[in-house]
Amino acid sequence: MLKIGITGNIGSGKTTVSRVFEILGIPVFYADDAAKSVMVKDAILMDGIKAAFGQESYFDNGMLNRRYIASIVFNDEGQLAKLNSLVHPAVFRAFDEWAAQVKNAPYIMKEAALLFESDSYKMCDRTIMVTAPLELRIKRVMRRDGFSREEVLSREARQFTEEKKIELADFVIKNDDTELVIPQVLALHEKFIGLSAH
Ligand code: ATP
Repeated sequence: MLKIGITGNIGSGKTTVSRVFEILGIPVFYADDAAKSVMVKDAILMDGIKAAFGQESYFDNGMLNRRYIASIVFNDEGQLAKLNSLVHPAVFRAFDEWAAQVKNAPYIMKEAALLFESDSYKMCDRTIMVTAPLELRIKRVMRRDGFSREEVLSREARQFTEEKKIELADFVIKNDDTELVIPQVLALHEKFIGLSAH
């Protein structure tokens, strides 16, 4: 089955655009949500986290001690990379399980903030990058999450630049105030249906 990866930097609107594909009947896997759920469901991952960061990573009832994990990876690139190297394979496993259950779809999508940073794009047949100017993205996230400008910028700094991702992606959807999203989605949808037929 044809697999399409979709990404975009913070506030670009990748989730909003993915919902449009869903309205067209395309199953979408949300990797960032999956990353949260595998932390408390995937036994291999949970054992890996305990081995890497200590038994106190989980409470006795199996809940993740998010505050403890956050305190370890906060401002520590090495520890964050270690955590990601455990979580990403678990998300890949969750995606494969999810994909195996999909029936009767011309193609499926994986929405992930770190599609390119995590190498997850290598498992996709085509990729889409959703873009919007930084100022607009900052405004959206400040409104959505109540973040400060600095918080948005610090998250932005942890992702590849838009320019780099545009280069890596097969297609770009502009989600700014100059172009309508739906015609862009429909054009790609047609293209992917054509590709899936071959
Ligand atoms: P993140 O990676 O930060 O989760 P995202 O790329 O998934 O963000 P969305 O959550 O889809 O982005 O969009 C960010 C905010 O901007 C949301 O509140 C959404 O409703 C709004 N938004 C997205 N696209 C548009 C648009 N074209 N017009 C107006 N608001 C938009």
